[in-house]
Amino acid sequence: MSVQTEIQTYLNYINGEWQSSSNEVEASINPANKNEIVGYISKSAKEDLDYAVTSAKHAQIAWRKLSGPARGDYLYKVANALEARLEEVAETMTREMGKTFQEAKGETARGVAILRYYAGEGMRKVGDVIPSTDSEAFMFTSRAPLGVVGVITPWNFPVAIPIWKIAPALVYGNTVVLKPASETAVTAAKVIECFHEAGLPAGVINMVMGSGSIIGQGIIDHPDINGITFTGSDGVGKRVGLGAFARGAKYQLEMGGKNPVIVAEDADLDLAVEATISGGLRSTGQKCTATSRVIIQSSVYDVFKEKLLAKVKEIKVGQGLHSDTWMGPCASESQLNTVLGYIEKGKAEGAVLLYGGSKCEAIGLENGFYVQPTVFENVNSNMTIAQEEIFGPVLALMKVDTMEEALEVANDVEFGLSASIFTTNIQKMLSFINEMEAGLVRINAESAGVELQAPFGGMKKSSSLSREQGSAAIEFFTNIKTVFVKG
Ligand code: NDP
Repeated sequence: MSVQTEIQTYLNYINGEWQSSSNEVEASINPANKNEIVGYISKSAKEDLDYAVTSAKHAQIAWRKLSGPARGDYLYKVANALEARLEEVAETMTREMGKTFQEAKGETARGVAILRYYAGEGMRKVGDVIPSTDSEAFMFTSRAPLGVVGVITPWNFPVAIPIWKIAPALVYGNTVVLKPASETAVTAAKVIECFHEAGLPAGVINMVMGSGSIIGQGIIDHPDINGITFTGSDGVGKRVGLGAFARGAKYQLEMGGKNPVIVAEDADLDLAVEATISGGLRSTGQKCTATSRVIIQSSVYDVFKEKLLAKVKEIKVGQGLHSDTWMGPCASESQLNTVLGYIEKGKAEGAVLLYGGSKCEAIGLENGFYVQPTVFENVNSNMTIAQEEIFGPVLALMKVDTMEEALEVANDVEFGLSASIFTTNIQKMLSFINEMEAGLVRINAESAGVELQAPFGGMKKSSSLSREQGSAAIEFFTNIKTVFVKG
């Protein structure tokens, strides 16, 4: 590809320098306008990854010897650098993956908060004192870093997800090689620029762009990568888990969801409608915690449906940088085609299309990957759109008579990431908390809400059953060392 000179080229970040072994680049385009190139990114080779891993391995020797507070101080500096560039990073995110500028700013601010949270972790306790049966001995636990951690991330949260993996990895004494999603590598490069500005020692954080099949697979196979943390699709997640297990590396997988909201007959319906729309359609439905199944008790079904449709019809689809846009495009052409394919499948399998269902063809949107917000009804658990993750703005309405039936339907999927219920009845809340097979259960709140200080992860096929974020992160990024001391 010939490079247009006015558009910046982004290189890998290895051993404290921006570099790449190859002159070949790939264009990252704006999904709101496929004719706009956001930046060029390096097409990396296996040698780039090898150099990054060698640098990380070497840097880890000194990094792990720093005190926790000293490592935390670096993260505070990264947070300040990112905060100073918040609007620029958010605008790049909007141009590169399509979410609205407001959402992109919120995500970047969250990245800043995550960095500060883990900077503080550098000063918190890492072990326990355990009474020994020997009264003259002193026994306690400490934590050892894994070593070099490989971080493989998706395009849907191109700032928050890399940061919620990198920050705890670093503060607990690991060094990192990041392979960002190709779709959002420019945004990732801007995040890494903030680590560079903060002056982290060379080799502590490295980023290698490039394809999943070469650089991603290279991370899975690399003998000097001691742990891999991955977020993305189920299929790639399985490869990561199997490959890491085969060579004895620690791994952590966060994959998809098929998240339900239950609307009970005693729910505040206006609240439930707002939360269903926000949880299901914001970010164009491209959140792993997005609501995709709406399970409604029959006695309030019609009222809920009419209120929902009235609000969905008001949604303004457009360029994420326009201030009146509520929903941007799908992140890529292939994602748009996937969503349209699921919509066709829904129709073919007998679901009734109530609203949307097509590509947006309005003037101004013709060069983007826009799909209408879409609502189906008469959906049952045998249908593909009730089972597979669509990752698009598609809501499937499912009518049930009782709460028992609602819970049965809610659990009748292979995924178990997030779920919510709208009810004013304490007994229903308690049954939901106890019976729902999901890592995140939310009462009278949308399914797509994650707080950075709380553990996050799924049950069933949604994850490898470990947890990220909050105080849970230490479990993946360190190994416990039990220490027995006798004078
Ligand atoms: P992928 O799982 O394909 O990509 C996630 C990351 O893995 C990217 O960095 C990707 O690189 C990398 N990767 C791809 N192939 C390999 C491989 N063989 N070995 C190692 N790493 C690899 O997800 P997509 O981004 O393509 O999205 C596909 C589907 O995944 C979505 O439709 C959605 O259903 C789901 N998804 C779920 C997310 C979640 O948060 N739960 C987030 C994103 C997607 P590259 O970008 O270069 O291909």
